[in-house]
Amino acid sequence: MTVRVRFAPSPTGMFHVGGARSALQNWIYAKQQGGVFVLRIEDTDAARNKPEWTEGILSALDWIGISRGSYEGPYFQSQNAGEHRAAAARLYESGRAYYCDCTREDVQARTGSQYQGYDGYHRDLGLGPGEGRALRFRTPDEGATVVVDLIRGEPTFENRLIEDFVIARGDGSPVFLLANVVDDLTMGITHVIRAEEHLPNTPKQQLLWDALGVKPPIWAHVPVVVNEKRQKLSKRRDKVALEAYREEGYLAGAMRNYLMLLGWAPSGDREIVPWSVIEDEFRLEEVNPSPAFFDEKKLRAFNGEYIRALPVAEFIDACQPWLTGTGTIAPPPWQPEEFDADAFAAVAPLAQTRIAVLSEIVPNVDFLFLASPLIDEAAWTKTMKDGSADLLDAAIAAFEALESWDAESLKSTLEAVGAERGLKLGKTQAPVRVAVTGRTVGLPLFESLEVLGRERTLTRMRAARLRLV
Ligand code: GLU
Repeated sequence: MTVRVRFAPSPTGMFHVGGARSALQNWIYAKQQGGVFVLRIEDTDAARNKPEWTEGILSALDWIGISRGSYEGPYFQSQNAGEHRAAAARLYESGRAYYCDCTREDVQARTGSQYQGYDGYHRDLGLGPGEGRALRFRTPDEGATVVVDLIRGEPTFENRLIEDFVIARGDGSPVFLLANVVDDLTMGITHVIRAEEHLPNTPKQQLLWDALGVKPPIWAHVPVVVNEKRQKLSKRRDKVALEAYREEGYLAGAMRNYLMLLGWAPSGDREIVPWSVIEDEFRLEEVNPSPAFFDEKKLRAFNGEYIRALPVAEFIDACQPWLTGTGTIAPPPWQPEEFDADAFAAVAPLAQTRIAVLSEIVPNVDFLFLASPLIDEAAWTKTMKDGSADLLDAAIAAFEALESWDAESLKSTLEAVGAERGLKLGKTQAPVRVAVTGRTVGLPLFESLEVLGRERTLTRMRAARLRLV
């Protein structure tokens, strides 16, 4: 039997990190089993779907390594509507489903409770199809539905507790539950690896497989992804869009490595491992069924490590979208003609060890490309104290007299200026840094001044000094 798995997102919003995690797990499982990965866009909810979300899913998958053309599909659920209707009709004709025209109020009036599910009123009344009549599945009264789940063992659901659920609405349109089963069935899916949120649907879906006469797939419900308060990640509250992480400058390699650690870990005391190790060692059966904490801080730290591991030339390449403002990434504060690739290359190794996400490159290097630095006023006020004017005067004079404009000489010169005033280097540097870069934190100061050059450094120091008059 060839293993066939599918990833079946609904294009109703930005692509969620939890979805990306499930996609990767499907992808790796298919690869390990010599199977096929199918992409199916579940686009039947016309009111909530937008074509751009579909494009977003394809491009996000591509970004994390599930590249277009390397899988089967994308198929679109809406194109399979005929099959969904035919399956509903088959279930009706075989007596496995029946029509019902009860409203919610009717059921409530009969059962005396708004919490009770459907009471099976129309089961044996022989109502035929017609406008406004929903088609309901005739759930067996007895027995239990045992779901074989690679991660959760064999969750068992008593059939008598499963109501006769709707499979097609009053207007004849099949519901998601049925469409999803029919698609999996027609596409020959053998393993359904999806988020835990769908587990409550699974016994109903398995009953549908049985009723349609096909052996159900093996299931694997991967854990829900939660935030630090153990709440399910929500797009209103949490940063969940893969695209947002990409725009912030997360590397695809770091992202997919991190996503695979949600509920699983490679052997040994390792977390950051080559992708090939994950592909070899990942075992779906080993995924922890408990909720998986999406730790943004840890992801950030991870990303920093991935950034530092890049060869410098690759780091420089990776920064380009932020240096130029490509696509949806905001343009930097300088004009394209102000950018100096050599100056950037000179400071890139210093930046590479200091930033955790690529977008942070911009505030670290903008002082090099702008005619005058963007002064952070809060930093200015905090730094420019009583002695700052005198200090700047002395530093300007000392720098003017420097023979060689290099980091080493700049450092020893400023150190001496500070020492004469009983100041440590840290305190002496601060006003110079704010004068030249506009900020209190940034790349190592003296290397920065070396790259910026004598003239521009001194012009900025003089301008700052004038502000202090
Ligand atoms: N379209 C469903 C979703 O995005 C997936 C259903 C499934 O994987 O079976 O949640």
